[in-house]
Amino acid sequence: MFGAALLRLRESDFGEVRHHGGVSPAWPIAYADLEPYYGQAEELYSVHGARGTDPCEPRASTPYPHPALDHEPGIRELFADLAAQGTRPFPLPVGIRLPLPADGQRGASPVRPSRFDGYPDPTESKADAQVVALAPALSRDNVTLLTRARAERLVTDAAGGRVTGVVVERDGRRETLSADLIVVACGAVNSAALLLRSASDRHPDGLANSSGQVGRNYMAHNNGALVAVTRRKNGARFQKTLALTDFYRAAPDSDLPLGCVQMMGRMDEGELAGLLAPDHPEIDARTAIHGAFEFWLTAEDLPDPDNRVTLAADGSIVLNRRPSNREAYDRLKARLIALLDRVFAEDGGAVYVGYDLGIGGVSHQCGTLRFGSDPRTSVLDLHCRAHDLDNLHVVDGSFFPASGAVNPALTIAANALRVGDHLAARLGRGRP
Ligand SMILES: Cc1cc2nc3c(=O)[nH]c(=O)nc-3n(C[C@H](O)[C@H](O)[C@H](O)COP(=O)(O)OP(=O)(O)OC[C@H]3O[C@@H](n4cnc5c(N)ncnc54)[C@H](O)[C@@H]3O)c2cc1C
Repeated sequence: MFGAALLRLRESDFGEVRHHGGVSPAWPIAYADLEPYYGQAEELYSVHGARGTDPCEPRASTPYPHPALDHEPGIRELFADLAAQGTRPFPLPVGIRLPLPADGQRGASPVRPSRFDGYPDPTESKADAQVVALAPALSRDNVTLLTRARAERLVTDAAGGRVTGVVVERDGRRETLSADLIVVACGAVNSAALLLRSASDRHPDGLANSSGQVGRNYMAHNNGALVAVTRRKNGARFQKTLALTDFYRAAPDSDLPLGCVQMMGRMDEGELAGLLAPDHPEIDARTAIHGAFEFWLTAEDLPDPDNRVTLAADGSIVLNRRPSNREAYDRLKARLIALLDRVFAEDGGAVYVGYDLGIGGVSHQCGTLRFGSDPRTSVLDLHCRAHDLDNLHVVDGSFFPASGAVNPALTIAANALRVGDHLAARLGRGRP
């Protein structure tokens, strides 16, 4: 389940950046290395957006494959009001598959998107990995998907240089699958856990872990929701069409980066009631929901080797995370509230509720198997191949050496396409 907000990292995110909480390290590749793959990923995920509107948008060699979605009532007005306050809101790039009518004109879609985010979309208009990548792959007769199968560990040859098998538990039975090339993509937490569970005589600290870096530098962004409860009507059903990056690199009261703001999917009465209950029990969520504007805040989380995935004695996952760069997040929230106070002044102001994601908020997890050219300080090489094993690649969020402050999925997809090209070349084939 994801929200399909698909933004590119900024060019500056690939260099070393000073933050309130410390330094974000440079990536071992440049933005230019990933740029063509960002374009391919945007095409694949049907991203709707408008180039040239995001104030810190990186250079792009291709246009967005689809024009930005129209704002619904409420968000159009908010957009204009934010602009009137001197900020530069822009259309949030969203991955969405809207069926076109036969004459190619937009607007006759039978689908009206609603919340996205943590909700399944039975209409399959949300461009997620299931509808965009997995279903088409399964239409090929050389692809097999084993459902209900959990990869337990990877086993190697006697020398420990190649993975020879994947031990899988399925319906209470164990089997070992084998292949020439193994690509792990369990997500940052579970990929690290899989490698740690694959410890052996040859790899006593876990597979691919000669650097001691497996599981370390876990990042998940400083994320949270801020809801402005106002007397102004928000008539939008799908409001994920607005974002703000004015404070991405700096702000009027900060020389250092703060982060990114975007609309999140609409909440329902129950969710809003839960947020209002502690401090505003006098506000009735059934009425308040019609004047609620829900924002998602993201500030960079800095890599820290002690923020890490380890295994308990019984093999279960232990996640250790000490918050980093909270000042950026707190300042970003304060900036947004100050801005919204002005926007909603004529409506009698706003009441703010929300939540900050803590350690349980693993949605933007990344960084546990970072890539780099030095095998002493990174787990994966520049092609996301394990330094220690010839035939083991990882193509999920774990390769990130730094997290930037935009949602991670487009970068994960772009990098997977980049690594895919490398694997196809290695196999002596073009991309299918
Ligand atoms: C509610 C929500 C909203 C989000 N919204 C956005 C958004 O709008 N934009 C954005 O860019 N990002 C968003 N994200 C983040 C985005 O979904 C992730 O960054 C992305 O999916 C991570 O991709 P991945 O390939 O690293 O891992 P995943 O997508 O998590 O894929 C890992 C897969 O491996 C499977 N797996 C794990 N362990 C094993 C095992 N041992 N054996 C077999 N299979 C295993 C898992 O079941 C899963 O299917 C959101 C996340 C959440 C939870």
